[in-house]
Amino acid sequence: MTIRPICITGNPVLHTKALEVTEFNEELSQLVQDMYETMDEAPGVGLAAPQIGVNLRVFVYDWDAEDGSAQRGVVINPVLTISEVPVGEADWESESEGCLSVPGERFPLRRAETAVLTGVDLDQNPVHIEASGWFARIFQHEFDHLEGILYVDKLEDEYAAEAKEIIKDRGWGKDGLSWLPGEEKLEG
Ligand code: ZN
Repeated sequence: MTIRPICITGNPVLHTKALEVTEFNEELSQLVQDMYETMDEAPGVGLAAPQIGVNLRVFVYDWDAEDGSAQRGVVINPVLTISEVPVGEADWESESEGCLSVPGERFPLRRAETAVLTGVDLDQNPVHIEASGWFARIFQHEFDHLEGILYVDKLEDEYAAEAKEIIKDRGWGKDGLSWLPGEEKLEG
């Protein structure tokens, strides 16, 4: 297994709709293993294939629920059905999310409270998960990645402006930028 560099916003693969997986081969299996390892090292609660530069409809997730249950898995060619996204302003305390492709930043965003995720796993067995709360949020965030959408693309105007500024200040928003999970620890 290999920890792979995570693409930073501006890399075209993050802003392009990903392609359906058609080949369930060793290469796909390797990709998923690398995605798990990269997500764990980052660390993150989810990672989509475009974030490591692979333009395929695959994401992994790892979430410890409030009730103590652990949710970890992969979904390939997902379909996501969500409840209505609530209207009104997002709350900083309870609705702020982050993204490994906009590292170190957080902004609030309204998301649907419930989501039903379907698709297949590596063995092409069906996946069917009904999620709510933060788990449903993770699915919405990762699914958006496969559509070429980052959460910062969906922020309310005030936060969108702030995010844009930060991305500019950091020198992001252009092709070819990435970071390698684990690497920063060597500097400390
Ligand atoms: Zn993300």
